[in-house]
Amino acid sequence: MTYKTAIIIGAGPAGLTAALELQRQSGIKPIIFEELDQVGGISRTIRHNGNRIDIGGHRFFSKSDWVMQWWQQILPPDISEETENCMLTRSRLSRIYFLRKFFDYPISLNRHTVFNLGFVRMFRIGISYVWTSYFPRKPEKNLEDFFINRFGKTLYLTFFKDYTEKVWGVPCVDISPEWGAQRIKGLSISKAIIHAVKKTFTKQSLENQKKTQTSLIERFLYPKYGPGQLWERVTDEVLERSGELSFQHRVKSFLFEQEKLVGITVLNLQTLEEKDVYGDYFISTMPVKNLIAAMGDTPPTEVKAIAADLPYRDFITVGLLVNKFKKNAQSQSAHENNMPPDNWIYIQENDVKIGRLQIFNNWSPYLVVDPDKIWLGLEYFCQEGDALWALSDDDLINLAIAEMVKLDLLANKDDVLDQIAIRVPKAYPAYFGSYQKFHIIREFTDTISNLFLVGRNGMHKYNNQDHSMLTARFAVDCIVSGNLDKQKVWNVNVDDDYHEEK
Ligand SMILES: Cc1cc2nc3c(=O)[nH]c(=O)nc-3n(C[C@H](O)[C@H](O)[C@H](O)COP(=O)(O)OP(=O)(O)OC[C@H]3O[C@@H](n4cnc5c(N)ncnc54)[C@H](O)[C@@H]3O)c2cc1C
Repeated sequence: MTYKTAIIIGAGPAGLTAALELQRQSGIKPIIFEELDQVGGISRTIRHNGNRIDIGGHRFFSKSDWVMQWWQQILPPDISEETENCMLTRSRLSRIYFLRKFFDYPISLNRHTVFNLGFVRMFRIGISYVWTSYFPRKPEKNLEDFFINRFGKTLYLTFFKDYTEKVWGVPCVDISPEWGAQRIKGLSISKAIIHAVKKTFTKQSLENQKKTQTSLIERFLYPKYGPGQLWERVTDEVLERSGELSFQHRVKSFLFEQEKLVGITVLNLQTLEEKDVYGDYFISTMPVKNLIAAMGDTPPTEVKAIAADLPYRDFITVGLLVNKFKKNAQSQSAHENNMPPDNWIYIQENDVKIGRLQIFNNWSPYLVVDPDKIWLGLEYFCQEGDALWALSDDDLINLAIAEMVKLDLLANKDDVLDQIAIRVPKAYPAYFGSYQKFHIIREFTDTISNLFLVGRNGMHKYNNQDHSMLTARFAVDCIVSGNLDKQKVWNVNVDDDYHEEK
């Protein structure tokens, strides 16, 4: 029997959604190549000595009903304690750690904040906010202008500047104001005040959260065993329906015949053997930079130059299993081991390199084998090849432990029981430099009618899982309907509304 095939590059959320949707909607067989040895991409869950790490902490929340239903059809909401394959509904708590104290996130104007910041600083924040209200920076040329216009200069210098620069590795004056518009769209001091008041009187449901600004979302779904559990279940279904998946296979070049894309060459990373695989359709979630490089001389010189310079931000997370936190009255801990109640904590201090601290127990207690221990993820934003990236795993782990002690969160290094360092290259597609000319790459790739770019690095979009899934869904729609116009795929814009926050 002959059937059509779709070659899918990458078994992350976008690739796996594309595979399952193709199977649900057509007889086209998905053949997936994944360079890692597990599924889920950036949304994978890494197992380490029985404990599980979520890279980044993945909230499952979307303004798209299609995505919400899709997830819950794979993993239904928790029914009973015994159910293994289910979603938990979690409450969000994330605070800011600054001046060795905990602050609400988003910063709220309450007694606690005033006490922590002190009257003098609060007064200066108020004056500078009022000043900005009367004399805003116009036009808004960069992210610094964006922040100052919404929060005043003092609050910007106190809470936004250092952290943003830690995350992106460039000064706020070099970042476009659209970043701010996308990431904290609609948030301002007045909205934060209104939110604080409303919060006192209303109960948040997942449904009415859809109307809430992203940064304020307070409840979300979360797979019992981390985000990777959902993508592992999807993989089971794809394989049951006779899809194919090869791990540790890197797509390294593309085969064209008379300008038509006909196949790919994959490298088996274990045996180092290469093989050519032919197909009818190609769905790529690999980074655009690598995709264009893998096309050799086919793309025009200008396209190759723009792609070669596309910027990314890379990411390291250090997992630490600890006995207890140092006693810190402000952590509001309900535990004997002083574990703070937060899912994650923004580390605003500028005398350390760590950007965020995840507390995996609070995402799902099932990520941790021993409920008395605290399972942490210390997140570092960096650049592939920079001094931090170049550290050995041992040195990274030592740095992470030393910073926890310096921050006054751990009493000493003897409280650390287990550790692991994980590097995530190209975790963030960035919108600097040659990205301004990204449309030229798109115009070229759109001419290859049977090639679909989907997902985060696949389209160079700073997105969440829901965006990746929707782009995959629409690519499948194009293939199944025979209408190969990719406009619909590029138009998916849930990411304008909802992002993992930085
Ligand atoms: C710190 C952090 C926090 C996040 N928090 C959230 C959150 O709270 N909620 C949320 O919904 N999303 C969150 N995200 C975003 C989420 O991780 C991504 O949107 C999602 O994983 C993107 O899916 P994807 O399939 O498009 O890409 P990826 O997850 O990047 O998957 C692409 C896959 O392709 C493979 N691949 C690449 N090149 C090749 C090649 N040449 N050959 C074969 N395989 C290849 C990769 O190994 C990878 O498995 C977060 C991301 C980060 C970095």
